[in-house]
Amino acid sequence: MVTAMAQARAAGDLLVTEMFGPTVQGEGPSIGRRAVFVRLSGCHLSCSWCDTAYTWDTTRYNLDEHRRQAPVADILTWVRASGADMVVLTGGEPLLQQAALVNLAGPLYRSGIRVEVETSGTVAPSRRLLVSVTAFNVSPKLANSGVAERARLRPPALGAMVASGKATFKFVAVGRRDLDEIAELERTYSLTPIWVMPEGRTPDEVLRRARDLADDVISRGWNLSTRLHVLLWGD
Ligand code: SF4
Repeated sequence: MVTAMAQARAAGDLLVTEMFGPTVQGEGPSIGRRAVFVRLSGCHLSCSWCDTAYTWDTTRYNLDEHRRQAPVADILTWVRASGADMVVLTGGEPLLQQAALVNLAGPLYRSGIRVEVETSGTVAPSRRLLVSVTAFNVSPKLANSGVAERARLRPPALGAMVASGKATFKFVAVGRRDLDEIAELERTYSLTPIWVMPEGRTPDEVLRRARDLADDVISRGWNLSTRLHVLLWGD
């Protein structure tokens, strides 16, 4: 059986879950920046706290209700018509579709639009993709994700992100115990710069965890992100 992603790949299209904005980037180094979002379908991990499970979780969602095969040219037209000077290409795991993704990222990047790609850092970027984006927001997963280490940490892919010079590394932390694990990964893979973001689905939860983490994060030389979209809109 040909999967939806294979079908899209064969046509040179992207399998898209949603496109929205202009809104603001809710997390990480560009938090608060005005941007449009293109969310691609599909992910090979299955983090327990994933807030975009509708992009991949066939046990809970009928994915066909949440995705469509879209020609790259149509998405380019939509992004340009938005007037936004930043686009976030996210997922799911967008690098699972990087052959077509580069045909979206490249023209936007070359026209002066800031192109950020959000990834788990488990898929090595192609050379074409590396020169077609402004920044990679890499989010390696910790044990708190519930994903087996061999699946969530892929040294060649992480190494390629480090070598790109375009990556920042953002970790989802549930509590202070996670910070030692982040420090170990920082040492092992020479990850820099590091951002820590509290996991949370409600404003209260995000703020409570951010307050709990803040002093430790700062003293370790890292950066702290909240989840602005949760604080503003509750999801
Ligand atoms: Fe969800 Fe991201 Fe984890 Fe995939 S890597 S399951 S999209 S949180």
